[in-house]
Amino acid sequence: MAEPGQAMGRVADGGGPDAGVVELCARLIRFDTTNRGGGDSAGEREAAEFVAAELAGSGLAPVVLEAAPRRANVVARVAGADRSLPALLVHGHLDVVPADEAHWTVPPFAGEVRDGYLWGRGAVDMKDMCAMVLSVLRSWRARGLRPRRDIVLAFVADEEDNGQYGADWLVAERPELFDGCAAAIGEGGGFAFDGGTATLYPIGTAERGTLHLRLTATGRAGHGSRPNPSNAVVALVETLARISAHRWPVRLTPAVSAYLAAAARAAGLPADLADPAGVDALVARLGRAGTLAAGTVRNTATPTVLRAGNKVNVVPSEASALLDIRTLPGTTAETLSTVDSLLGPAVRREIIADREAVSAPPNSPWLRAMAAALSAEDADAVAVPYCLGGGTDAKAFSTLGVACYGFVPLRVPLDPARYDYRAMAHGVDERVPIDGLRFGARVLDRFLRTV
Ligand SMILES: [Zn+2]
Repeated sequence: MAEPGQAMGRVADGGGPDAGVVELCARLIRFDTTNRGGGDSAGEREAAEFVAAELAGSGLAPVVLEAAPRRANVVARVAGADRSLPALLVHGHLDVVPADEAHWTVPPFAGEVRDGYLWGRGAVDMKDMCAMVLSVLRSWRARGLRPRRDIVLAFVADEEDNGQYGADWLVAERPELFDGCAAAIGEGGGFAFDGGTATLYPIGTAERGTLHLRLTATGRAGHGSRPNPSNAVVALVETLARISAHRWPVRLTPAVSAYLAAAARAAGLPADLADPAGVDALVARLGRAGTLAAGTVRNTATPTVLRAGNKVNVVPSEASALLDIRTLPGTTAETLSTVDSLLGPAVRREIIADREAVSAPPNSPWLRAMAAALSAEDADAVAVPYCLGGGTDAKAFSTLGVACYGFVPLRVPLDPARYDYRAMAHGVDERVPIDGLRFGARVLDRFLRTV
């Protein structure tokens, strides 16, 4: 196993934007930047220092900013040819989720190449993107190229928890670093997906919001052997059962409508999006392509944590639960009033996290430039907007008025039996196809130079 930062030999050459990407990604994987959440982290410092050194080698002047000891972020600005144009932000996170080596085929932080794949934690989430950016910049230096517009690069900490040492901190403490940024690209889209007659490349133009609630039931404490009609546990469970059984209404947003229409076209199916029942039927008929939209045609409310009682013969006076609600753009108020109507009389709710949904225009020049860059490298590519069911650092950057897109270009095998891209992030044996990684670097090079 190589040490972090150690070269593994040149995999390809020629000085193009894809020449160094595999090696760079392997090096990044070898930095263990595990984020266990709640501030418990291996830290991003060494990875950040490596990134900063690479950027300096590419002629930039990066700054390393630590929100807390070892929680390092790197920001740099690439001067464009026309500085009057709005800037583009390119963001990627350096931290990764934990990996239990006992379950892996290869050590998760070795950065090994095997069977045409680069293996390791972070291979698709998202050291791949960080490596593509570094590789593109290295090649620009070698080729004497510069982008049309300013590009701000942010390699951040703590995305895999809540961003308090990363994107949120940068946005709160150093917003001036992002001056002039009109749009951003980051994780959450750009990968190849089998659409039937076409290869879809879903590009994130929206993200559902995050609404975390605590529900607390209060009742009368007492002996477990006696009848008690004011049992807090029962009140809480009944409320959770009502919320879980609630059928949230279909709410089609522009990103989801655009995705369903394009996926239906590619699959040769009619798309009647006016009728909610038709929307559910279409999602089902689209099969695998439908799974990308299934979680985003309506809100979801999922109970995740329960707390009550500590002894079998004692009725507790209080019971509480956490609810993970994901909201479509513009539905937070409606969602809260629905939840309130489902609460039992002994149950109250409080908001413990509320992050607005994100949406960027699904038919913008930014998106068209992404589509053009994909088509130049894959003639079968059909770029389609879509909505992410979960969240990314776009939630933080969008508060600066930046239109955030999920665009990490990556060509992957279309047959999930061969390679299931969507099972890779946070999964066992996370790996990225080497050809796909190189493809991504070439697409990113075109996009970043020409946008
Ligand atoms: Zn990620």
